[in-house]
This record gives sequence, structure tokens and C-alpha cells, in this order.
Amino acid sequence: MTQRELESIRRAVREEIVALEEAVARWRVFHGLGRDGGGDETGFPVYRGWRQDMDVRLAELRAVLARMEGDEFGVCDDCGEDIAPQRLLAVPTTRRCIGCARGREAAGRPGTTPRPTPGQ
Ligand SMILES: [Zn+2]
Repeated sequence: MTQRELESIRRAVREEIVALEEAVARWRVFHGLGRDGGGDETGFPVYRGWRQDMDVRLAELRAVLARMEGDEFGVCDDCGEDIAPQRLLAVPTTRRCIGCARGREAAGRPGTTPRPTPGQ
């Protein structure tokens, strides 16, 4: 993977983090809660589920950024081969090459975590 490809993936991940944080902040403001903390979220059961999905996704994305600082980013967990940059750009949280991911799907095991849908 070239530095340029790595940079585009990093940028895409950062943009998604910002977008998710904005979505959470907007939701809180819309319901009269503070932008960052403050107010009671527990009265919104639907939100709690959505917020948990957001937190999981944000944690995954931040883990991607952290992995990018090391050498193992972009290397398949299963076979040790490089993951195609195009695949990483589309699914930055993936830790398997397309071949191994397909093999897992065929075996009925989950490959990558599905994205939560914002705004629900
Ligand atoms: Zn693989």
C-alpha cells in the first residue's frame, strides 16, 4: 500500500468519526440535551440502542487509526497477506482480505461488523 492510499483511508476514517460525532451531538441538541454530556439520555430507549451502535462504530474507527500507526494495518489476520487498498477504503475496519472474508461467510461466520445506520 502506498502512503497516498494510506492517507486516503485515514482521511475517510477521520471524516466518518467526525460525521458520527456530529450526528450524536445533533440528536442531543434536538432533544434538548447538552451537546456534550448533561441532560438525561435514559428517557430515550430508541436513542440508547442507536447510541450504543454509534459508540461501537466510533471505537472501531478509532482502533483503525491506532492500527495505522503500527505495521500490521492492512495485513490479513487470517493469511497474513496484504489486504487490497480498495477494500480497506470501502471497509476500513476490516481485518481480513477478501478471500478470507468470503471463506468465513461461506462457513457461516461473520466477517466484518455491519455499519449502523445513522439517523434512526
Ligand atoms: Zn486473508
